[in-house]
Amino acid sequence: MNFRTLNKTGEELSILGFGAMRFPLKNGRIDKAKSEEMLTYAIDNGVNFIDTAFPYHFGESEIFLGNFLSKNPEYRDKVSISTKLPPWDVKKSEDMYKILNTQLNKLQTDCIDYYFIHSLTKDVWDKLLDLGILKFLDDIKKSKKVKYVGFSFHDNLNEFKRIVDYYDWDMCMVQYNYLDDELQAGEEGILYAARKGMGIFIMEPLRGGNLANNVPKEITEIFEEYTKKHKYFQKPSDWAFKWVWNNPNVTCVLSGMGSLEQLKENIRLANSISNPNFLNIDELEIISKAKEIFNKRMKIKCTSCNYCMPCPVGVDIPRCFELYNSKYLFDSKSAKMEADFKYTAQLGGVLSEPKVASKCIHCGKCLKECPQSLPIPDLLDEVSKEFEKTGFKYKVKLFKTVAGLQKFVEKLFR
Ligand code: SF4
Ligand code: SF4
Repeated sequence: MNFRTLNKTGEELSILGFGAMRFPLKNGRIDKAKSEEMLTYAIDNGVNFIDTAFPYHFGESEIFLGNFLSKNPEYRDKVSISTKLPPWDVKKSEDMYKILNTQLNKLQTDCIDYYFIHSLTKDVWDKLLDLGILKFLDDIKKSKKVKYVGFSFHDNLNEFKRIVDYYDWDMCMVQYNYLDDELQAGEEGILYAARKGMGIFIMEPLRGGNLANNVPKEITEIFEEYTKKHKYFQKPSDWAFKWVWNNPNVTCVLSGMGSLEQLKENIRLANSISNPNFLNIDELEIISKAKEIFNKRMKIKCTSCNYCMPCPVGVDIPRCFELYNSKYLFDSKSAKMEADFKYTAQLGGVLSEPKVASKCIHCGKCLKECPQSLPIPDLLDEVSKEFEKTGFKYKVKLFKTVAGLQKFVEKLFR
């Protein structure tokens, strides 16, 4: 296994981190035997960072990980545990402390090594500031319930920099892959945080698996032609991982692996192609070509600059366009289903106010802000037609019920 040092903490972390959100399932629950086998294999082969979160596997991931490590105490010292504060459950200051105690309980530990605030956006950060998050972060480090603090992020670059500058963070977690190098925090955000010594954890290196399994034929042909000429073989996932690891500012790449096979494959890659600055100029050129082809498939040329935001009625304009584009980038049914799922879960109003396209009242305020001159309200009508078909409201209700069940599990552990 290759390791990189997190500057701020001096800790050596494996370049591949285990994302505990896609364990194999049996009858809809975590398949314990298979998942234990995977964790054992990962740790025995050098993976020393395991990342979970309160909602993963409907609350079961933290419990499963806690049980595994208490059954195998020799592994606890070999790995760092990471989990996240769910801000959508924080209504008052005390909730943060209660939730952390619940998580310590579920994970059966006195100290969580890496504690992230989950999925920060501007609104969420402002809410947490009002509720005293800065004091909370100081308190939990001082009490040694948590070793290091950071945040995972889903908003624009300016917001990312604002949050980075707000606190003496140890690390952050951002979405980054060769398709999304300018999206959200992007390459510039990564550099900004790295210059402050923060550890950079990467999520979505394969864009939900699509850069491994659903790459369009015209791109796989370019990959194959290149590798054939140079007499070696590389799958689309190899290209994607290699590109992320190529960035020397990246500390650890998280992958939510769903089978032992996939884990073995990712460990093989981490052992062989994870050095920084590993891609040569020709390979970088090949990736640029792949990106160009993907860009041509983008239906809406939105750059996620966020200048049109906030919308007075709460539509998340860039996210609506991003998910709409996702439906057409890849050729598979699963990629389209994933976009549908995310639209419902993230914009449908499951955990916060709805931010869906159909809320647009065509006031026109956003139109003059868009540097791409996009006809935003008309495009939102398209997005709404695509995602909010008959049954959409029932899907949102179903998701809300599931989220309610999670809260029930949480109460059991408080
Ligand atoms: S036109 Fe629609 S999306 Fe644009 S600001 Fe008005 S309500 Fe929001
Ligand atoms: S201003 Fe235009 S390009 Fe920028 S996020 Fe809004 S719609 Fe997209």
